[in-house]
Amino acid sequence: LIITIVIISLIGYSRCIRITYDIVNKDALTQVYNTGRLGREVTRLLKKGKLDGYICICSNIKGLSLVNRRHGTHVGDMALKNFAASMAKAINKDERMARVGGDNFMFIVRKEREEEILKLLEKVSVPVHTDDGVMVLNLENRCGIYVIESTDRFGAILDAAYLAVHRAKQPSVPDNIWYDKNLLQQVFERKSILTQYKKGIANREFVAYYQPKVDMKDNKLNGCEALVRWKQGEQLVPPFKFIPLLEDDGSITDLDFYIFENVCRDIREWIDAGVTPVRTSSNFSKLHLQKRDFAEHVLDIISRYNVPHQYIEVELTESSGYENFQAFKDFVEVMNTNDIYVSIDDFGTGYSSLSLLKDLNVNVVKLDKSFIDGIGSGDVTNENLVKNVIHMIRDLNRDVICEGVETRIQADFLKEIDCYMVQGYLYDKPLPHDEFEERLKHPQYENNIS
Ligand code: C2E
Ligand code: MG
Ligand code: MG
Repeated sequence: LIITIVIISLIGYSRCIRITYDIVNKDALTQVYNTGRLGREVTRLLKKGKLDGYICICSNIKGLSLVNRRHGTHVGDMALKNFAASMAKAINKDERMARVGGDNFMFIVRKEREEEILKLLEKVSVPVHTDDGVMVLNLENRCGIYVIESTDRFGAILDAAYLAVHRAKQPSVPDNIWYDKNLLQQVFERKSILTQYKKGIANREFVAYYQPKVDMKDNKLNGCEALVRWKQGEQLVPPFKFIPLLEDDGSITDLDFYIFENVCRDIREWIDAGVTPVRTSSNFSKLHLQKRDFAEHVLDIISRYNVPHQYIEVELTESSGYENFQAFKDFVEVMNTNDIYVSIDDFGTGYSSLSLLKDLNVNVVKLDKSFIDGIGSGDVTNENLVKNVIHMIRDLNRDVICEGVETRIQADFLKEIDCYMVQGYLYDKPLPHDEFEERLKHPQYENNIS
């Protein structure tokens, strides 16, 4: 009896030890190492100088939250488990892998296997059981990659790889980002711009500049485009410094409406002061198309300032069209029924241009500056292209305006091919409110401007 008791106690004790070991070292769901264990392993290997020639990859599974929402967290858990099992098979004895939280995994692998592992992580197919039976999920990953140095500590390795994967998560950024020192600098700058942006909005530092659109038939002001400027004291920050960042962050939608409201307020004030406004286009990010109430919001602001619809135009870039075609189409329809113009901006920089135009009932096409730049450079092919594109757009019954017209030669060429609406430095740069108001009062340009 005593021997039996001793044996049972020993078995219980060893199970207890095993469970404790697992809790301390392993991730409960996937059974791969947890962060703590990875840290101890990496510290030990670093001390022995065994991580020279190794890299750290931090991966992040794309769209796992969507899987959770669509099929339930039990399916998401199964996906994570099978993902970990599948990747564990690819890890060699001298390499390490851990789940470091949520859908993030860390891999410490030999430098020469970088390409192989990244290729694997591009798409990991895992089976899962759902209510509809077994299905295969293709889990794509973004990765942050850091090359380990012998003097590193585990914390620094983790931070660097995390920072890189965090960057890879942002839209319009490649899926794999390699850490370098500039990345840290960039992150600080981005953070600081986003903090300043919030203050900037509160302090009303964002203003609309207006760039005239000219009809070359009579050389008269025929419209304008509102372009955002950020006034930081005496400094005027151009949009390219902050718009891509606000687009990544999602705040651009608020800024667009902030500027649009400014535009409507200015138009109302001009009307009330007896100054005749012109149709004013405002830029809207494609992110608006993901919001159901986009059209409603636009209409609401217009009616709040009681602006006649003939003075309003909405610009959306060509790329919005093929990324959110149905939403774009629905939006245009609402604007059409309200007699509000919609234009496609930066036309010709995307790839599905003409077919897109056929199906979207927009009023105006803004031909991108890159087309205009080639005019007058002796490149006949480019000039023929401009001519034919403009004619094709016209055949589809859309108005055309050429952006970025800077020289007399470009203007004369466009006139020759019967394209009269232009916007560009030849006539005017974007003007601050008061200067533009003078333009509205004196809409006639000299005949031979150059
Ligand atoms: P965009 O909508 O294509 O605006 C035209 C840009 O070309 C403006 O730059 C304008 O100043 C510039 N431009 C016009 N004529 C000429 C020319 O003859 N030569 C040259 N070199 N440039 C010319 P800007 O104001 O820096 O705006 C850049 C982009 O920022 C805009 O391109 C638009 O995509 C975006 N943007 C500006 N304001 C807003 C806004 O309120 N909301 C959103 N979402 N985007 C905006
Ligand atoms: Mg524009
Ligand atoms: Mg443009």
